[in-house]
Amino acid sequence: MPSSRHDALHVVRTRRPRRPWAPKDPIATYYGSRTLGLSGLKKRLSERIYGLLLRSIEEGIPVTQETAQAVAVAARTWAMEQGATHYTHWFHPLTGATAEKHDTFFDYRKNTEMLKGRELVQQEPDASSFPHGGIRSTFEARGYTAWDPSSPFFIWDTTLCIPTIFVSYTGDALDFKVPLLKSIQTIDRSATRLCRLFGKRTRHVVPMVGWEQEYFVVDRALHNARPDLVMCGRTVFGHAPARGQQLEDHYFGPISPRIMNFMKSLEYEAHRLGIPLSTRHNEVAPAQYELAPTFTSANLANDHNQLLRDIMQKIAQEHHLCVLFHEKPFEGLNGNGKHCNWSLATDTGVNLMQPSDKLQDNLFFLLFFIATLRAVHTYSDLLAASIASYGNEFRLGGHEAPPAILSVFIGDVLEQILNDISRTKSIHRPLDKAFLMKLGVDRIPQITRDNTDRNRTSPFAFTGNKFEFRSVGADSNIARPLTILNTIVAEQIDSLHRLLLPASGGRNKEQLLARTAQVLGDEVAQCRDIIFNGDGYSQDWVKEAQKRKLCNVPDTPHALAAYLKKKNIALLNKHKVLSLREVTSRNEIMLNGYVKKIEIESRLMQDLVDNHVLPTAVQYQHQLIENIEGLLRLSLDAEPLQSLLLQINKHLARVQSEVRSMQKTRSACNAIPDTMARATAYAEKIKKRYFGRIREIVDALELLVDDKLWPLVKYRELLFFR
Ligand code: ADP
Ligand code: MG
Repeated sequence: MPSSRHDALHVVRTRRPRRPWAPKDPIATYYGSRTLGLSGLKKRLSERIYGLLLRSIEEGIPVTQETAQAVAVAARTWAMEQGATHYTHWFHPLTGATAEKHDTFFDYRKNTEMLKGRELVQQEPDASSFPHGGIRSTFEARGYTAWDPSSPFFIWDTTLCIPTIFVSYTGDALDFKVPLLKSIQTIDRSATRLCRLFGKRTRHVVPMVGWEQEYFVVDRALHNARPDLVMCGRTVFGHAPARGQQLEDHYFGPISPRIMNFMKSLEYEAHRLGIPLSTRHNEVAPAQYELAPTFTSANLANDHNQLLRDIMQKIAQEHHLCVLFHEKPFEGLNGNGKHCNWSLATDTGVNLMQPSDKLQDNLFFLLFFIATLRAVHTYSDLLAASIASYGNEFRLGGHEAPPAILSVFIGDVLEQILNDISRTKSIHRPLDKAFLMKLGVDRIPQITRDNTDRNRTSPFAFTGNKFEFRSVGADSNIARPLTILNTIVAEQIDSLHRLLLPASGGRNKEQLLARTAQVLGDEVAQCRDIIFNGDGYSQDWVKEAQKRKLCNVPDTPHALAAYLKKKNIALLNKHKVLSLREVTSRNEIMLNGYVKKIEIESRLMQDLVDNHVLPTAVQYQHQLIENIEGLLRLSLDAEPLQSLLLQINKHLARVQSEVRSMQKTRSACNAIPDTMARATAYAEKIKKRYFGRIREIVDALELLVDDKLWPLVKYRELLFFR
């Protein structure tokens, strides 16, 4: 019987692989050639204009009309030299994807190409179709995109892309970039002030981020033959293949030639776009991979991640492949995460998260280190909300790293140091060798070696000179968690500043150091519970975490509720990162999206059962019946086939009844007016109650029905194609 599965398999068998289009030249010869950043603009602008631009960026003040005009001319000229014909404002609306609307440089009235200053600085896309969660009433449905001069221009294909923020007519943020930029500002202000309290000449502190993007790659034809992958990005059915990831032979294994060709083309394009990709390797599950760039400032790292995910999909297409970013595309296999490595760097190039073997410097490190621990402890609910999504729900709390319980791994050496500080709370002889020993400072170098297996199960781990937030989902915009992380740490740094300020007045430096040790001792005592260096999977830990009252939310609606807690709204308001209106509208968008995703999956399951699985099973039953009749006519034993027929029949009856019952429940859920209540109902009454059960029956049928007839591309075909 012809089916889209067999057609797709035929296509795969007869495919000619595409060669990579990366040149053999050293990367340095083309790195960043498709971007125009500050260094490029410096060459193309007058010294005066360049100075004005730099000042605007550093001080966060709007660029003047004159500057905008000069930059627009420089950018257009550069872009046209590279073959560009169009330009677009490029932004990150709350859909989670990126958005662009291309306009030509060509003005037919003047018969010439141009880009005006005001077109560069601001645009008014037809914004009414982007999610806004009730922020805009239709009569003022206008939205504006505005140039973010801190991120370079880039060219994709023949279009000059201008990174922008996206705000409403009333000034409310409608994207992920605005709150991120505000959180970067707030932590800069807080951390710089604390550095200065200790007599440092710091002018700025910037959060630095290096993400590690996990993803699956499958053949495009096979992907397109699975309606669930096309519609939901994950498989809702599919029996686990005999061989999954149990042999552990994929992780760091050799990369297949076809995937390698894709990766080479991708890296070439990424490097031309100034994305500093540096590592690539196979991940744990078959057909799963990871790539990571060298870390950069948080805003740029976020732009890079968004842009890269776009171009990965485009380049995969050229190679007849499809990339899956969903957090759990395949049941029974590891899902996709996006670890976010995070640290704080000063404008003089000092990593504030770098431990030191000098007592004073180490005390300074401990300030920022402990502020982060304290922040995660106090605001773990907000942090959990910042990574909550429908897809990530399948991953967190599943049988893979990390668990949903939020705790921080710091390793034995640092824990010992914190214990000592919290016990002694004083510095008697600051540079005394014995005291150094007591603090454990002489053992600092060991910290970096403390990358044990236990740490791999931790959702938030200190890994030598940075924190690694591992709960972030592969498909989410990292601006969400980064915004929260920056803000909560800024808050704790401010609180340390308040406590230390009175001791900073005198000329006696020792007074400040003594007070610092005392304050840090108290701080440690208050956030001890968040530290956990053990195995995140043991049942004991689940009980212990409950005792410690650590954050462990079961699903997205519960997690998102944290945004609306008084203390969290107050915090986001105080740091001017998100207003109450913005928080409320974002939650509304997230909850609506959550409901829609479950609704789509539920409908799709129904469609697959009714129109694919059922007819196939019935057809197979028909064959069985003919066979049984034949056997009986010849007085042969028909018992095995009869029992098979019976089994299939039972499964069919059950799956039909489950699907009907799910449909009824869905109608009931849709009648719930309150978004939060509707989302919770969808989570508990649809997803948790039906999805697993229906899948189990369909997967059982997949094993019983003749392989030739089965309509859906099987896991082994998706995962082990070459
Ligand atoms: P692993 O898989 O062992 O965690 P990777 O090399 O895959 O390590 O990724 C580590 C990521 O952390 C990279 O993106 C790297 O640039 C980034 N990173 C390294 N040092 C820092 C730092 N100080 N601050 C932020 N990110 C960092
Ligand atoms: Mg890695």
